Amino acid sequence: MDISWQSFAATPVGVKALVVGAVFILFFTGERIYSAAPYPEGKARLFRNIGLWAIVLVASPLIIAPLTALGANQLVWTRSDSFYFNVLVLATDLVLLDLWVYWLHRAWHRVPFMWRIHKVHHFDEFLDSTSAFRFHLGEVAISAGLRLIPITLLAVPLGHVLAFETLMLCAVIFHHSNLRIPALLERAISRVIITPSIHWVHHHAVMHDTNSNYGAIFSIWDRLFGTKSVTVRTYDMRIGVESVEDKSFLGLILSPFKRNG
Ligand SMILES: [Zn+2]
Repeated sequence: MDISWQSFAATPVGVKALVVGAVFILFFTGERIYSAAPYPEGKARLFRNIGLWAIVLVASPLIIAPLTALGANQLVWTRSDSFYFNVLVLATDLVLLDLWVYWLHRAWHRVPFMWRIHKVHHFDEFLDSTSAFRFHLGEVAISAGLRLIPITLLAVPLGHVLAFETLMLCAVIFHHSNLRIPALLERAISRVIITPSIHWVHHHAVMHDTNSNYGAIFSIWDRLFGTKSVTVRTYDMRIGVESVEDKSFLGLILSPFKRNG
């Protein structure tokens, strides 16, 4: 079996890894040159975020990738010979999967056992591109499993699932990032997609704001379903979970298993 980097990069999963990796490096560098909020002292949260990411990366080929492959019905990008029809189907699949992620995110907040797992992401007391990968393995695995529901119901091809995952990861890196964006430009973008100014309010350490702004890619869902917060992001707003402090790396891994974690 040929497992060279060139052949890996030519696979859909390889393309996804390359695109997401490049976007991450771009934002990780950019937000340190043009920072919106001043960075906190110390590197502890960076190690916690990267540590949680490493666990997901190691587990991905074993848990996440087989689940995705199981749900997607075929390794093709198209379902018809018509280019325009296929573009329309791809766009529809992306919008519907984003709608699914919106409602799933609401569930992560509102179902008590799910909130215990999702809280690990919210314990972060600052946000930047590394927060995009700070998820408990349990959340990533359960999300991948539950995504089989829309993928199966809509018969979404594997290519479209991977296109969505790539797009979503890039969007998640963007809306967690600490990149300084001109206010006018950010306001214009925020009409269509979730920007840092929208998502940072979701991480505001005030419960009412934490339970709002659930969107991942498109900003329409919060407006449509009445979950958009009226709070305006300020660079000094406290980030995290109301009345709770961040935990150690081991504390984060064990936190969902503790009743008051
Ligand atoms: Zn959340």
